[in-house]
Amino acid sequence: MSKSNLLSAPASPVGEVIAALTPHFGERLSTAPAMREQHGHDESWHETAPPDAVVFPQSTEEVARIVRTCAAHRVPVIPFGAGTSLEGHVAAIHGGIAIDMSRMTALKRVSPEDLDCTVEAGITRKQLNAQLRDTGLFMPVDPGADASIGGMVSTRASGTNAVRYGTIRENVLGLTVVLADGTVAHTGGRARKSAAGYDLTHLLIGAEGTLGVVTEVTLRLHGIPEEIGAATCSFAGVDQAVATVIETIQSGIPVARIELLDDVMVRACNAYSGLSLPEQPMLFLEFHGTAAGVAEQSDRVAALAEANGGSGFAWSTRPEDRSRLWEARHNAYYAALALEPGKKGFTTDVCVPVSRLADVIAATRADIAATSLTAPLVGHVGDGNFHLILLVDPEDDANMAEAMAAHDRLVTRALDAGGTCTGEHGIGLGKQHYLAREHGDALGAMRAVKQALDPHDIMNPGKMLPPAG
Ligand SMILES: Cc1cc2nc3c(=O)[nH]c(=O)nc-3n(C[C@H](O)[C@H](O)[C@H](O)COP(=O)(O)OP(=O)(O)OC[C@H]3O[C@@H](n4cnc5c(N)ncnc54)[C@H](O)[C@@H]3O)c2cc1C
Repeated sequence: MSKSNLLSAPASPVGEVIAALTPHFGERLSTAPAMREQHGHDESWHETAPPDAVVFPQSTEEVARIVRTCAAHRVPVIPFGAGTSLEGHVAAIHGGIAIDMSRMTALKRVSPEDLDCTVEAGITRKQLNAQLRDTGLFMPVDPGADASIGGMVSTRASGTNAVRYGTIRENVLGLTVVLADGTVAHTGGRARKSAAGYDLTHLLIGAEGTLGVVTEVTLRLHGIPEEIGAATCSFAGVDQAVATVIETIQSGIPVARIELLDDVMVRACNAYSGLSLPEQPMLFLEFHGTAAGVAEQSDRVAALAEANGGSGFAWSTRPEDRSRLWEARHNAYYAALALEPGKKGFTTDVCVPVSRLADVIAATRADIAATSLTAPLVGHVGDGNFHLILLVDPEDDANMAEAMAAHDRLVTRALDAGGTCTGEHGIGLGKQHYLAREHGDALGAMRAVKQALDPHDIMNPGKMLPPAG
């Protein structure tokens, strides 16, 4: 329990905040240990750090009230979406108030003619797409987990189909945000482009709750494709699979998804889901378009795969067959965890220019093979982005040290290749020390932004920016 948690008596700042908010929020403010515990961790291996209280606002005005009250008492505010992040993002390491956005889920407006909509930030991507279905439109960004739109905005999320539709960054037009002093600001708008002033929308996208609480999001939408095709193909080695990916992208084939599983991950999927896939690296593809367009894309990729020694190219447009073909990919994360029951997933992601993908993956696999670690690899390889799921026992110092060292070498390799320490999961607690390595002098400008917008460091303190000095 954090020091602050022990100081929750009414006279402490956080006690004052709880006392001030309780009359307004009633049972929508909880200090129950189980509730605090649940909000003190994400899906990663990082240690739980519970907030002192959890509040469930139902409007932007209520969020502003919470933040104003916390600002007056200099108490930390930790925005909480669905808690699916992977770098310790929501851990309340300095105590404070978690703002759970799960009761702000309204789809406020859809404009089919403009292909956009405005939502409250707590809506999850699956909830949103279920409500959009009758319009023939969808919000494509898909991080796998059923994350909230506010959380996706705040981690600059992407996922399997960013190769075709872009990341959340390319799909947000505007935001409503409660800033650290409790004021409400509207950024961006509904126009498809604007040259008006600083681009605060994109400053807040990926800010990890350190600059404000996003309460509403205006999103671009896309037409549900007339036809969807899925395909899988095995390769003797990762190099051949990655060569197929690179040639597919360089040929301009507009694949919607192109995912790589290495042989360790395929083995995990076979064991977890009772499949009998060849235990070799595999590509999983999805094609969107007209029936003829999807067939043509599939044929072109099949030819590239064959030229690279791919085998067993299977494809279908029938929904039940597509689900079957993609079953392994959909369950990959939990299949990886099941390889060594009792261990946790130390999931990391890096992203490199696609031309460097093959050598960075090859070097990474050789590196892991020389350790005692189990670390299946899965990648959104069309973007040059891949994940390692290092299986660790956080209580075992030697195991953790070995994983940390391998992780450090992975990030160094990605940075040396002109890549980034994280393509989509963000910095949180886990990658702070790489921010300076990646951004050098720009870190000073980042600190200046934080100081200007949150001078008392109440917004998700201790996250993203490494400690100064
Ligand atoms: C199995 C699995 C697979 C995943 N695959 C992917 C993937 O392919 N691609 C990918 O990008 N991610 C992936 N993730 C990570 C995760 O789903 C994303 O980071 C997601 O965007 C987090 O959203 P959330 O609602 O769960 O946010 P949370 O975990 O609740 O919060 C994440 C961060 O955003 C802040 N935040 C949340 N809501 C707000 C708000 N309204 N205003 C301001 N700040 C806010 C929080 O303070 C925190 O810093 C995966 C996770 C899992 C468990």
